[in-house]
Amino acid sequence: MSSEEGSQAGADLAREVLAWLEEHWDPALSVEEWWRLVGRAGWTAPHFSLEEGGRGLPRSADRQVRALFASHGALRPPGGLGLLMAAPTILRHGTPDQIARHVPPILEGGRAWCQLFSEPGAGSDLAGLSTRAVRDGDKWRITGQKVWSSMALEADYGMLLARTDPGVPKHAGISWFAFPLDQPGVTIRPLREMTGEALFNEVFLDGAICNDADLIGGENNGWAVTQTTLFFERTGIGAGGSHAAFPNPGRKGGALGRIAGEAAKDVPPANNKVIAFDDLALLAKRMGRNGDPQIRQKLARLWSCIQIGSWNARRSRAEAKAGGGAAVASIGKISQTRIMKLSAEVALDILGPAGMVTADLGIDHGRFVDAFVFAPASSIYGGTDEIQRNIAAERTLGLPREPSPDKGASFSASPRREQPTRSARG
Ligand SMILES: Cc1cc2nc3c(=O)[nH]c(=O)nc-3n(C[C@H](O)[C@H](O)[C@H](O)COP(=O)(O)OP(=O)(O)OC[C@H]3O[C@@H](n4cnc5c(N)ncnc54)[C@H](O)[C@@H]3O)c2cc1C
Repeated sequence: MSSEEGSQAGADLAREVLAWLEEHWDPALSVEEWWRLVGRAGWTAPHFSLEEGGRGLPRSADRQVRALFASHGALRPPGGLGLLMAAPTILRHGTPDQIARHVPPILEGGRAWCQLFSEPGAGSDLAGLSTRAVRDGDKWRITGQKVWSSMALEADYGMLLARTDPGVPKHAGISWFAFPLDQPGVTIRPLREMTGEALFNEVFLDGAICNDADLIGGENNGWAVTQTTLFFERTGIGAGGSHAAFPNPGRKGGALGRIAGEAAKDVPPANNKVIAFDDLALLAKRMGRNGDPQIRQKLARLWSCIQIGSWNARRSRAEAKAGGGAAVASIGKISQTRIMKLSAEVALDILGPAGMVTADLGIDHGRFVDAFVFAPASSIYGGTDEIQRNIAAERTLGLPREPSPDKGASFSASPRREQPTRSARG
């Protein structure tokens, strides 16, 4: 598409969204009622096809639609991990029945999801996970422990990986479940991070139950399904997305019963974990540091990284359309990590001693300091920088694969680092 055609398409979309909002936005509706309207009209995921519940628009339409909702004063469409990862995974690997039961509640904001992948002994080596799922008639009984599970306390469902066959090589005996969290066999405990927040949790599963009807992509095929989830996580992060949604979807998020017009006023203008370049340039002016050559040089470097990152995101979308793109998604993830860290570092350089003051006493309610203490996490979530470099090295540069001593051996016969088993109670 030429840039002229692109701006014409953008203007057409803006007209369509604003006309729809004129007709439908009613600040007196509840958030639940509003999100249902938005989801059914295809605005939550306009880049999904019509059959998938979207409007068949390009990926970039999503960001534009959200910005148009906000500028109109309307509550933006629901977001969160369900939209980022669970919906696209289920759309690609689920049966029609599974899609019909799980995707609309995500698009309508009625159900929140978390990702139950990492374990105390399985993070980078995710395929080494030891949570077990054992078949019991038309159900599965699941026992094990997950950790670093973002937003698990607020979630209704988890994207759960569990071992369904320990007698085969580790990648071959895993299944992906759409797992309901509200049940007696599940204990969730928050973990406090250095930001002071408790974004993530540990989740203990003790004979918890999942229906066979919620096994997505077939028994022992979970590794293939997982690649889809990770692809959408990494491309979402690489495109500047985040784990946050404002307000949280789902019953436990507390937003559904609120008045949509009130909730719309709460929505922060930008995700406070990611600092926009323009905000930094403005901050430099406000603090009288825009003439400082070192600050200018760092800002120029950051701007270059952002441009390269956006070109990479375009390349990633094009490769994904052509059926590939995993390595480019990894490069995009590394690029976004670098942008997050560099922008937080420049912010603190600009602030100088004022960067030591946090929360309400700090400049802009301490948002730059919050971003700075969160930034190191970006090297870890969605797969660490080292793992992304390994993927790019092997799949893009064609370097030799990492040695894998347990290749071909069944999971139960492989030597594993034993994890201390911690009980849910202490
Ligand atoms: C803010 C945040 C949110 C998160 N949210 C979630 C979530 O919602 N759900 C979820 O399931 N997980 C989540 N995670 C967990 C995250 O995916 C894992 O922490 C990550 O995959 C790394 O695993 P690990 O912590 O076990 O580290 P390890 O795998 O133990 O790695 C330790 C170090 O060794 C390095 N390393 C390991 N293997 C290799 C290798 N082969 N080559 C080179 N270096 C290597 C790693 O890069 C790292 O520096 C989150 C993490 C963070 C920080």
